Amino acid sequence: MTAAIPPAPAGAKDLQGRKHCPACAADALHIEARFTTQPLGTFSLAGVATKTVAHETVWLVCRVCGAQAQGRPDGHGNADFDPAEMTPPTSTT
Ligand SMILES: [Zn+2]
Repeated sequence: MTAAIPPAPAGAKDLQGRKHCPACAADALHIEARFTTQPLGTFSLAGVATKTVAHETVWLVCRVCGAQAQGRPDGHGNADFDPAEMTPPTSTT
């Protein structure tokens, strides 16, 4: 019927059977944690070694089309996602 959907990466929370991608309707969404760095010039750290500032963020990702949205922490250890904010699939052509 349809091509096999790749499994969710290790450590990710698979939403299969619970939500469908708003971009491509695939049942292939998962939530994963990423470390996001702040852009250079937006922070200051003492010392001569190269440093950066990073914080953990959570993302809703579609494994079929690549659409993704960043979650907003709800203050209770979880995050809210707005599927309408998912970025459209990026074209590599
Ligand atoms: Zn999708």
